[in-house]
Amino acid sequence: MAPLPALITRENFKSFLESFDTVLTDCDGVLWHEDRLIGQAHVTLNTLQALGKKVFFVTNNSTKSRDDYVEKCGRLGFKATKEDILSSAYVLAQYLKQQGFQKKVYVMGMGGIVKELQAEGIQSTGGEPEVYDGGSLSTLMDKMKLDPDVGAVACGFDPYLSYLKVMRAASYLERPGCLFLATNTDERFPVASKGLVYPGTGCVVRCVETVAERPATVMGKPSTKMFSVIQEKNSLDPKRTLMIGDRCNTDILFGKNCGLQTLVVLSGVTTQADLEKWAASDDPEQHALLADYCLTQLDDLLAFLDP
Ligand code: PLP
Ligand code: CA
Repeated sequence: MAPLPALITRENFKSFLESFDTVLTDCDGVLWHEDRLIGQAHVTLNTLQALGKKVFFVTNNSTKSRDDYVEKCGRLGFKATKEDILSSAYVLAQYLKQQGFQKKVYVMGMGGIVKELQAEGIQSTGGEPEVYDGGSLSTLMDKMKLDPDVGAVACGFDPYLSYLKVMRAASYLERPGCLFLATNTDERFPVASKGLVYPGTGCVVRCVETVAERPATVMGKPSTKMFSVIQEKNSLDPKRTLMIGDRCNTDILFGKNCGLQTLVVLSGVTTQADLEKWAASDDPEQHALLADYCLTQLDDLLAFLDP
């Protein structure tokens, strides 16, 4: 047994609010669902910013660049500069820069990764559909040209996942010293839709890992790399930083891995039943998914915040 996250109430709100200076907020499932705002999430964050709290937007979604996120935040009523956005694609580019990477990256993913690599002057290839056109598999040997300059494979969300792409990625990964990076390993998207399951980036990464017979280095939550990137330019006190998220095996675990306070909102993938199941379990790994605080959705805070 472990305690359930504490509900934020009128009684504990003041001490909660005074306990942090910085907010790291997950995006999808906390602030918006795709292009739809979740309640008054923007008003809530704007009010916290007006009270002097520093806000960073921390997303595992690798499909967009930081410039795209600044535009999206503005469109939905959030106040964010490029420096306030931490995406898994940006962290991936920063990681390669820190490694002094000089070669080319094979991208199994979308424009977000390509743009963030470009911004760091890192060349890439891939990032577009590649489909098997029939015929015997042995003929692929003649057709598939590998780029001699590739020294890293980057896997992100790729709706054009294909046999040929996996073959290409795994072939590059045979090269001695070839880096293998993944933006994130989210299992699925929290889209409510007539019984359909939307595979997340995890299926791209696991697919290549299986064939390459080696694990990828993961950039996004729950890895602490995103926090290290924030810490390079901001000296945050982890104990006075609040991580808000809807997915506990990424967001809340990330918060705990970095020594942050954690708040789970039930507007995305996690349900009250999940929290109760984890709390009732004897498994420490399930206890690790339990946040310090819980809210139904972010704008519940507005009832306690002065405008
Ligand atoms: N990756 C992709 C491709 C997504 O579309 C999403 C959510 O829409 C995510 C990851 C999860 O993003 P976040 O970390 O903001 O919840
Ligand atoms: Ca989320």
